[in-house]
Amino acid sequence: MEEKDEKQLNFLEEIIEKGLNDGSYKSILTRFPPEPNGYLHIGHAKSICLNFGLAKKYGGKTNLRFDDTNPVKEDTEYVDSIQNDIRWLGFEWAGVHYASDYFEQLYQWAELLISKGLAYVDDQTLEEIRANRGTVTSPGKDSPWRNRSVEENLDLFRRMRAGEFEDGSRVLRAKIDMAHPNMMFRDPIMYRILHAHHHRTGDKWCIYPMYDYAHGQSDSIEGITHSICTLEFDIHRPLYDWFIQQLGIFPSHQYEFARLNIDYTVMSKRKLLQLVKEHYVSGWDDPRMPTICGFRRRGYTPESIRSFCDRIGVAKRDNIISYSLLEFSLREHLNKVAQRRMAVLNPVKLVIDNYPAGQEELLTAVNNPENEADGKRQVPFCGELYIERDDFMENPPKKYFRLSPGTEVRLRYAYFVTCTSVEKDAEGNITCIHCTYDPATRGGDAPDGRKVKGTIHWVSARHAVDAEVRMFDRLFAAEAPDEVPEGGTFLDNLNPDSLQVLNNCKIEPAIVDDVKTPNKENGVDAPHRFQFERLGYFCTDPDGSSDHLVFNRSCTLKDSFKIG
Ligand code: ATP
Ligand code: MG
Repeated sequence: MEEKDEKQLNFLEEIIEKGLNDGSYKSILTRFPPEPNGYLHIGHAKSICLNFGLAKKYGGKTNLRFDDTNPVKEDTEYVDSIQNDIRWLGFEWAGVHYASDYFEQLYQWAELLISKGLAYVDDQTLEEIRANRGTVTSPGKDSPWRNRSVEENLDLFRRMRAGEFEDGSRVLRAKIDMAHPNMMFRDPIMYRILHAHHHRTGDKWCIYPMYDYAHGQSDSIEGITHSICTLEFDIHRPLYDWFIQQLGIFPSHQYEFARLNIDYTVMSKRKLLQLVKEHYVSGWDDPRMPTICGFRRRGYTPESIRSFCDRIGVAKRDNIISYSLLEFSLREHLNKVAQRRMAVLNPVKLVIDNYPAGQEELLTAVNNPENEADGKRQVPFCGELYIERDDFMENPPKKYFRLSPGTEVRLRYAYFVTCTSVEKDAEGNITCIHCTYDPATRGGDAPDGRKVKGTIHWVSARHAVDAEVRMFDRLFAAEAPDEVPEGGTFLDNLNPDSLQVLNNCKIEPAIVDDVKTPNKENGVDAPHRFQFERLGYFCTDPDGSSDHLVFNRSCTLKDSFKIG
């Protein structure tokens, strides 16, 4: 990855600096406006890093606003998880607001537009409205109700609010131009009737504002200077401006950037909800999910997600980012901060026949070669160890530098050992590897200067702690899971082997103390993370307990070897 000394300004930074310099505003106020209808995903993280990041850079502030105008799909569970995830990422909002707090103001402004002859109640069905909208190449048709008097419109709109009419029987529309080249201007719907319970306003309202009417006005009420959203909203922008102009309220402005797409991943909340509801995953925080809580459970750090978002930058054109860039960002951070431990995922016994029976000793291991301050620890050693099954081959190919009959290898931090024989069960599986060791090589070097080609990790069989380790692969087998032939669904692209559970893993005993105290990160529960030497990065899973340790593999090491 190329790192420039002085980063070029992105297009949003250019806009902000220009406005600050020419006095358009003294400070900036951005907002992050999630709809509380699901958990946040990595795409939202990009929006969060952008909105909060820009405000921070220019000494401004960011509001958190719940865009809760659709009562049917929204829930307080989502409100709580969203706040949790933003905090965990390391951001603090200036104020927390709800679009539903503005329902009364939005209603009053709607009456104002009606009084100005700029909105009307339409009795057409939704199908009729759709059919009469025209197409990109042909104009729409005026509704037969378009020229109602202001008095009649006000009366009907008040009665809509009062609950006199059934769902879908009437809507309030802005009166603009049914032949406008921008379809958004063809009398957009402002309000619909919906007799539904809202998670905050209860049963107070039975009419709810549409996105285009609610969003810009909410921005304006809060005094948002830069309303940043994804590219698909660019055709909405003129309408955003139109409402603000007609109402003569604070001139918030909308700016669009390319949404984040990642290969082998689906990112719409609707699809993520389906994966959860239909039990394709264990929950929103399943470590294979692209949700922020899923990444947290997988072992991602806030720093790694922020640096990922920084690295991909902001573009004005859609593109697809490789999942491996996320892993790159994670490895880069964990390499600096994760403590190294020894673990054996797929164990086979190794017995050192010439090691004095009953003897035990402590060997010194480095906690993190990237950070001397992390110090050293003592790892217990004895004549019976576990090593990785893959680190032994009876009939090795050329260039296999690990253990095989007659070869000598280094046991990390310990001794040189040479394999002398193996024991097998009736089926021919190796059950025990016999070795001899050279006591003069204690610590891992031979005084006579002789070299070995391979170094393998190990765990003392007498001291090992048992653990379950969950190995994850991509949730989807297809690069673009959303692209399916007719009649198919994205579910057809699920990877059937995305989870492999290893039940018989052995870890050095230091791990027991390592995971004793709960880990909090920005006030949020987070896992303990480690590098298991030569294997990858792993973290504790909340399914585990002190009697039954459970770890998730976060990612492999760059030059990892494959287990199993
Ligand atoms: P989804 O389509 O996944 O349901 P959404 O856009 O409906 O997402 P919101 O809760 O409305 O979800 O989004 C809150 C903010 O996050 C919006 O400003 C939206 O533009 C931004 N956002 C959502 N998805 C992405 C993405 N993939 N990349 C960047 N920003 C995103
Ligand atoms: Mg949305």
